[in-house]
Amino acid sequence: VQNASAKHQRWEAFQDFSRRYLDLQRATGLLEWDQQVFMPNEGIEGRSRQVTILAVMAHEMLTSPQTGEMLEGLKEREFFDNLDEVQKDIVAVFERKYRMEKAFPTELYQKFVQATTLGQHRWEQAKKESDFAIFLPSLEKIVDIVKQMGQCLQESVFTDAATPYDAGIQVFEPGMTAEKFAHIVENLKNPLVAFAEEIWQHPQVEETPIAFDFPLSKQLQMNRLVLEKMGFSFERGRMDQSTHPFTLGMGIHDVRLTVRLDAGHFLTGLLAAMHEGGHALYEQGIHPSLDQTLACDGASFGIHESQSLFWENQLGRSVEFWHFLAPRLKEWTGRTIDPLVAFRAANVVRPSLIRIDADEVTYPLHIILRFELEKALFSGDLRVKELPAAWNEKMHSLLGITPPDDASGVLQDVHWSTGSFGYFPSYLLGSLYAAQITHTLKKSSPGLWEGVGRGDWLPVREWLRQNIHQYGMRKLPDALIRQVTGESLNPQYLLEYFREKFADVYPL
Ligand SMILES: [Zn+2]
Repeated sequence: VQNASAKHQRWEAFQDFSRRYLDLQRATGLLEWDQQVFMPNEGIEGRSRQVTILAVMAHEMLTSPQTGEMLEGLKEREFFDNLDEVQKDIVAVFERKYRMEKAFPTELYQKFVQATTLGQHRWEQAKKESDFAIFLPSLEKIVDIVKQMGQCLQESVFTDAATPYDAGIQVFEPGMTAEKFAHIVENLKNPLVAFAEEIWQHPQVEETPIAFDFPLSKQLQMNRLVLEKMGFSFERGRMDQSTHPFTLGMGIHDVRLTVRLDAGHFLTGLLAAMHEGGHALYEQGIHPSLDQTLACDGASFGIHESQSLFWENQLGRSVEFWHFLAPRLKEWTGRTIDPLVAFRAANVVRPSLIRIDADEVTYPLHIILRFELEKALFSGDLRVKELPAAWNEKMHSLLGITPPDDASGVLQDVHWSTGSFGYFPSYLLGSLYAAQITHTLKKSSPGLWEGVGRGDWLPVREWLRQNIHQYGMRKLPDALIRQVTGESLNPQYLLEYFREKFADVYPL
């Protein structure tokens, strides 16, 4: 009995540690949410200090000698073998996080937090004035720090990573390397460019049927209804507006998403709500028993993105969805819109400068551009100050267009200002996972998709929750995708899906 009680205490101590660590992280998240949604411009210096101190506290907590001893205690053979499967998975997540965090000296991490908090602010200014020079010194510092961090990860965590950039990718997508991803890119790039060119040989589809003045307050009502239909709980989450849409999960009971609305183009806000709603459903759908554990997060950034892209593209840009929406649009706007015409208008493929406005077919090309630039930046083939020119060149060779200014080119995305190098591949992985998952969903439960046109989406959310969401971080991406679809990631599903779908949009 003495022994059992001691073991119980050991697990309780770990749970107590996890809760305190998560509370620190979630409080930091709330400050960052406020920075993007409500904070006045000049609050940045104080906010930068606040975020830094909390992040440093969390870092010190996770890397302290006592934490190391706790991990050793949990992994003691006799103790570990008696844990249940969920507990074992949580310990594995803990070990991964501990090793990753332990890889950096506190001082380097502190520099990272300071540089990126300021970096985000500089990026916003630079984008507003469309002047890369304003962001350049910040970005140079960030790239330098992230390279050092990549080296640290290579030395102590991802010892088989060939480069610091490889290690960077692993942070976001465990099991993925630059080489594997480059292989995927090589298989996709030419077929995609050729497919887009095939589409552009046909007369362009009209976008105007769904582009009209639609008051923002009514758009918000519509987005709210769509989120409710998706099964998003407003008792456990909220929707606000920000320049760059994002989702923040602070446990399964407080999940916040933001949208960016456009009065003359409701599709922007609608698809942002569905995209972020997909992320939010993942966070709300993690099994309650994982809520206050370190495994309360998505399997990887790529898997997380597959859930947002499922709702945005697979469902939100499907003909079934527009059958559901057209009658509601008439109620809100008085306009009669043919569902098929609306479906086609929502699926126009054209070369565009901005990633987040890109259609499904050209979107992967935007990611390939960033991946190739990041790789060159980290190998030393490209210097930070050369980025704008390199960006414009690649944009021209992949999509045949050249950005007129930095704001619609190299400055368009927030990611680099947050130090997220190696993150962009997740977006393309998300598209690939989403196509593969949807293929399985439609094949294994054909009835589910028939309900989509009636707005009957809860069974779809339930399928995703049972197969993906509930596990949180318990499964690694490859294990999860094999469990759900019966095979490892296969890029062919995306190409197949494009071929089938866009034949209904263009006369291919
Ligand atoms: Zn996303």
